[in-house]
Amino acid sequence: MTVPLFDPLTPLAPLRERLDAAVRGVLDDGRFILGPNVEAFEREFAAAIGTTEAVGVANGTDALTIALRALGVGPGDEVIVPSFTFFASAGAIPPTGATPVFCDIDPETFLATPETVKAVMTPRTKAVVVVHLFGNVAPVREIEALGVPVVEDTAQAAGSIGPDGRPGALGTIATFSFYPSKNLGCFGDGGAVTTSDAQLADRVRLLRAHGSRGPAGFEEVGWNSRLDELQAAVLRVMLPELPHWAAHRRLVGRWYAEAGLDEYCRLPVATAGSEPAWHVFVVRHDRPDELRDALTQRGVEARDYYRTPAHRQRAMQGISISGELPGTDEAARTHLALPISAATTWEQVVEVTEAVRDAAI
Ligand SMILES: *Cc1c(COP(=O)(O)O)cnc(C)c1O
Repeated sequence: MTVPLFDPLTPLAPLRERLDAAVRGVLDDGRFILGPNVEAFEREFAAAIGTTEAVGVANGTDALTIALRALGVGPGDEVIVPSFTFFASAGAIPPTGATPVFCDIDPETFLATPETVKAVMTPRTKAVVVVHLFGNVAPVREIEALGVPVVEDTAQAAGSIGPDGRPGALGTIATFSFYPSKNLGCFGDGGAVTTSDAQLADRVRLLRAHGSRGPAGFEEVGWNSRLDELQAAVLRVMLPELPHWAAHRRLVGRWYAEAGLDEYCRLPVATAGSEPAWHVFVVRHDRPDELRDALTQRGVEARDYYRTPAHRQRAMQGISISGELPGTDEAARTHLALPISAATTWEQVVEVTEAVRDAAI
């Protein structure tokens, strides 16, 4: 049996006719930018996340840059961000003019904590990007209680549930990516910003469309970063499926524990009271590359993501600030992602677990 790391297509098979009809509908309608599907999706997505506003943008990276600019982040400001994350969490900061300041994580949860954020706060700190990495739910309220606005990077946590509500509705403003492999993915690039602050949402709408409210006036230099009608139309078909896709991801996480995977490696630890819709199922092991090679030979796909964390990437040298980040280095060295999707079966979980056991590393 081969077990793929991701399987974005199997869950879409039952939706095929409705997806085809959604695409046909946009072609028939002929409005491709900021039309009725984007407007409806923004309403439906805000309701699903639990905010009053959602704004569709071109991708999850632009969503972060625009959310930070909407908060007033600019040159001379510092923005705190974990280093153990997809590079874009940090890469979205320099385009605002601000300096990324890297904070550490708890390697058990892979998340920033109030302590790791507080340790790098300065009078110049203007915002914190808190990443709900791998679908685990970060302590946003506690971090925001430090007195600085939080941008939730929710690219990997659509469908997760936290003790205080859903990621995307926990801080001042939040961002999503609809890249095809994410928990809610479209057929190309797409993203959204969510908030319950109408003024912030208004600024995001301005910034995603060239800083303009109409064809004639330009209030400031913004971006061309809109969610396409075609992507919004297919996302509207998929959004009602997100709760059961997310529930299945939670179930697969429990299956890995039931199958006894924790005997051979360290499983990810959900934060207190949270129910992560695991985006990727990332374990820790002292020799992850040897384990990956053994699994690959047996047809079980596995990979590392952030072996070189953001603060050690060449692109960040000279334009960011970081001290020692021991939790980050530990997670970077030991992590390995195992297969999970909304279509993973119990048999696949058993196969992965037996493959890890038989590798005997
Ligand atoms: C995918 C991802 C992004 C970027 O989203 P894109 O849509 O690819 O630009 C940002 N942050 C995290 C944590 C991600 O996983």
